Amino acid sequence: MGRRPFIVANWKMNKTVDESVGFVEKFLPLVSGVEDVDIALAPPYISLMPVSRALQGSSVALAAQNMHWEEAGAYTGEISPGMLRDAGCRYVILGHSERRQYFGEGDGEVSRKVLAALQEGIVPVLCVGETLGERDHGRTFDTVGGQINGGLADVVLESGQDIILAYEPVWAIGTGKTASPEEAQEVHSFARNQLSDIFGNNVAGSIRILYGGSVKPENAGVLMSMADIDGALVGGASMEPDSFAGIVRFGN
Ligand code: PEP
Repeated sequence: MGRRPFIVANWKMNKTVDESVGFVEKFLPLVSGVEDVDIALAPPYISLMPVSRALQGSSVALAAQNMHWEEAGAYTGEISPGMLRDAGCRYVILGHSERRQYFGEGDGEVSRKVLAALQEGIVPVLCVGETLGERDHGRTFDTVGGQINGGLADVVLESGQDIILAYEPVWAIGTGKTASPEEAQEVHSFARNQLSDIFGNNVAGSIRILYGGSVKPENAGVLMSMADIDGALVGGASMEPDSFAGIVRFGN
């Protein structure tokens, strides 16, 4: 299908500005020969501008971890799509399970954010995934399907617009438990069918679906070898330049 692999670092609420820029300085030489993989870093908000400057001249892109859907106004503590564009963000992670779990985000908010990102020309990375309880009760597809339909409600992709989906089983995030490649592929294939129902086969075939949940240099290659796994959203193992570069170089 020709989908370019995409590997995203999500640093969550970690790293000072100096640490973020220090990471970039060490990381860029480690991936300087990599041309067939798209890479993005998602630092905390206050590091966006310094990391953006540090990335200039490289092909590594900048991503934000969240945003508000409004362009401006009385929303204390929030950051708008235009502000992210201004900081140089090409991508924004939306609906991460930690946003859903700790900040009460539901599909309604996530969908407004997805629409606002597309409107601003930022590529949304929509995160979906089931909890352990949902998996144990046989509700994985219900949950993931509902989050895809909910998060993409009213989305019509114009030509040139792109979205990314990230399947992140909640029980595999930060726990060291990875879904087996077959378990992940099963959900990715389901997700791609769901995308086909929404956007048609052609568009669905071009949308990259990332896997997230305890991805490491040691398991990235086998996960990436699955038919519908097109990349990775990486938390813990993206914190050190060597280990993140090892994931980016999964095939080499
Ligand atoms: C994440 O938070 O998106 C994630 C996948 O974390 P980890 O790699 O630490 O499981």
